[in-house]
Amino acid sequence: MEYRNLGKTGLVVSRLCFGALTVGPLQARLSPEDGAKVIRTALNGGVNFIDTAEIYGTDPHIRKAIIGGSSESDGRDIIIASKSYAYTYQGMETSLMKAISELNVDSMGIFLMHEQESYLTIKGHWDALRALVDAKKKGLVRAVGISTHAIDAVKAAAEIDEIDVIQPLINLTGLGILDGTIEEMIDALQVAADRGKGIYAMKALGGGNLLNRYDEAVAFIKGLEFVHSVAVGMQTVEEVQMNLRVFSGEEVSENLKKKISRQTRQLIIDEWCEGCGACVKRCPQGALTLRHGKAVVSSEKCLLCGYCASVCRDFYIKVI
Ligand code: SF4
Ligand code: SF4
Repeated sequence: MEYRNLGKTGLVVSRLCFGALTVGPLQARLSPEDGAKVIRTALNGGVNFIDTAEIYGTDPHIRKAIIGGSSESDGRDIIIASKSYAYTYQGMETSLMKAISELNVDSMGIFLMHEQESYLTIKGHWDALRALVDAKKKGLVRAVGISTHAIDAVKAAAEIDEIDVIQPLINLTGLGILDGTIEEMIDALQVAADRGKGIYAMKALGGGNLLNRYDEAVAFIKGLEFVHSVAVGMQTVEEVQMNLRVFSGEEVSENLKKKISRQTRQLIIDEWCEGCGACVKRCPQGALTLRHGKAVVSSEKCLLCGYCASVCRDFYIKVI
């Protein structure tokens, strides 16, 4: 496994980051025990970086996976990044302490403001950012930052000294970028990285939409020097094994590729959907519409981020 300095944070992270969303209640709904087995496979393969969020509900899975401390493969520190939608000082403090308690750790590696869209959104979350900066001074978190699907937010974060880390959406075709082209996202991220921000990518495979261009999509993201790590969602031991090989520059057998392609995920909306429209409003990609009183998904726009599932009171949306 290759490791990189995450900007100027002082954190050293594996190039492959375990994206935990996929094992939790918004996607595969694995039990904490089963989710921990998948995560543990990654840790034993040299991954020392795990990405999650307050809404993913995966702290119990991660907690079980990290019992015993360092990854067995090389004894490196395990860095856990989480994020919250909190916008007040107290709300962010509560989110951070909840993560620390649920994960049973002394401090967090990274804590982010979830889904920022622009300078204005960051400004609106300024009290939450202050809470994170104060927590960093107290040693409760080692680096703070934002996650985003927007170029504007990357540009704003690059200018803000308090922000150490950016988790942007970036992939081969720019699928899912809210406000511009892939070229513009690359330029903005290059500037941010040059200013010392740690960059770890999400949605490198466009939520599965780029699986038919898998080799190209992986070569693209690995080829971006300013991307210090890539968060990849994994649900099974086989998926972890494949990604470990890919990120270690090893060949992947045709057998393993076939097995994984059969595990392609999709968003399913139950026939019981009552057409309340909450999921349609929540989807940042415009992938959901209401038709004849039911939500329907446009799979070519859907990134399988799971945000819509988190607002359906009756759990009618699943990613399987
Ligand atoms: S939030 Fe649930 S009930 Fe409401 S439209 Fe979406 S799937 Fe249907
Ligand atoms: S439909 Fe749901 S999973 Fe797909 S992009 Fe929209 S919010 Fe994300």
